[in-house]
Amino acid sequence: MSAFEDAKARWAKIADLAAALSVLHWDQATYLPRRAFAARGRQLAALTETLHAHRTDPALGQLMERCGRELHGVDSESDEARMLCVAQRDFERARRVPAEFAARLAAHQSVGYVGWARAREADDFASIVPVLERTLEFSREYASFHPGFSHVADPLIDHADPGMTVARIEPLFAELRAFLVPLLRRIAERPKPDRSMLQDAFDAGAQIAFARRIVESMGYDFERGRMDLTPHPFMVRLAGDDVRITTRIGEDDLSDSLFSAIHEAGHALYELGIAPHFDRSPLGAGVSAGVHESQSRLWENLVCRSRPFWEHHLPQLQRSFPQLRRVDAESFYRAINCVEPSLIRTESDEVTYNLHVIIRFELELQMLTGELAVRDLAEAWNERYRSDLGIEPKGDSDGVLQDVHWYSDLIGGQFQCYALGNILSAQLFAAANAARSEIAEELAAGQFGSLRGWLLDNVHRYGRKLEADTLIERATGAPLRLDAYRAYLQRKFCDLYALDVGSPASTDATSVARTDLGSAFQ
Ligand code: ZN
Repeated sequence: MSAFEDAKARWAKIADLAAALSVLHWDQATYLPRRAFAARGRQLAALTETLHAHRTDPALGQLMERCGRELHGVDSESDEARMLCVAQRDFERARRVPAEFAARLAAHQSVGYVGWARAREADDFASIVPVLERTLEFSREYASFHPGFSHVADPLIDHADPGMTVARIEPLFAELRAFLVPLLRRIAERPKPDRSMLQDAFDAGAQIAFARRIVESMGYDFERGRMDLTPHPFMVRLAGDDVRITTRIGEDDLSDSLFSAIHEAGHALYELGIAPHFDRSPLGAGVSAGVHESQSRLWENLVCRSRPFWEHHLPQLQRSFPQLRRVDAESFYRAINCVEPSLIRTESDEVTYNLHVIIRFELELQMLTGELAVRDLAEAWNERYRSDLGIEPKGDSDGVLQDVHWYSDLIGGQFQCYALGNILSAQLFAAANAARSEIAEELAAGQFGSLRGWLLDNVHRYGRKLEADTLIERATGAPLRLDAYRAYLQRKFCDLYALDVGSPASTDATSVARTDLGSAFQ
């Protein structure tokens, strides 16, 4: 057996162990009885330790060195060369994290998750503070294993979005903010569309059935996945042919469950579209959290919150929910795109969404640098919502406890992907439409084949073969930038709110004070 074949067998085993770990996580988030959490914590810790030992086995390191010699002269863009390159980077990264730390962290994360669920139910951030303080220590400790970065958050960001750093993200977010704040201020002066049609009693079973139909029409294959209910929707890849999604049902709000399912199905299409021969290899996963998020947000917003989508799909929705029979497509389109500062990130509109993300990103940095103590986090959170969005959480559960990330993972690198994904979603959608003119016509007819095909060819099939920056550059002909996203939001919301597109929509980043926005909504 060649060294490369030998290494491939080892990578496959690592992938299988990682998948088994994901099954335990999936089960914990869906069906695990509450009193079984401690046992699950032990199981996760044991398997994490085993996985870590395989990932960092010195024999694997030596084997990969032999592979390097074996592949000498092979095209550096070949599957083999890329597989080895990505595997070596993973190996180096894993080797820096001591096995004992990984096991300790896994056990802590399990405690964190159940603690979060309890604290959220009891609306009590104080009860989880000691756990979160430990998480912050874990996060700093993790960062310390990866020297050579210029900011303490960089190793944590790089883990989710390889190649991204605080230095790259901060100016991009400043530019984003400088564009969004004036747009939001102008929208706030306009009359609000009527959203009441979305807030009615909607049968849960009918909601699940409709969401299943929509995600199936997008191309999600229920023979290669399933959809379950969780308070915090997610997607998980358990194998190339087992990519699962979850959603949640709000019986008095139609849009939440529907768009959650579409969002997660967008993630799932990415994983399901990765070239089958990358399965159980280092390339068999999405390349970064930001690119992943671009896929979910592209389907959720650019496709499924569009006018043509609802001109086609509203009659189907009306058959499922007769109370909507008098609603016309234009009113429905306006209702699902209503811009209004709200407390919950995952339910927020496209204009305010990124402000939720920027708040979290900045709070993470402040905690990591020691500028903000964990015990003061809830207060800092509420203060930012007051100043940035002009609203204040009623309690911790719709404030600092709403997202699971910090409580089940580390602090740092958890949120930038959502805004990066938004920016990229528009850049990719524009490139897809430029390359395949039939996409628009198909979307209006409720068909997604050409769009899905373009995404498959230009994004999905590569898995981790291309770096995120290379993938973006090749798919869109440019590096990640704000232009397409800015143009998209401007076009859509200036039309929706009858605003003059020509008005200044961008202001110098530094001239936009946070309080400017708050006052517009008070
Ligand atoms: Zn997502």
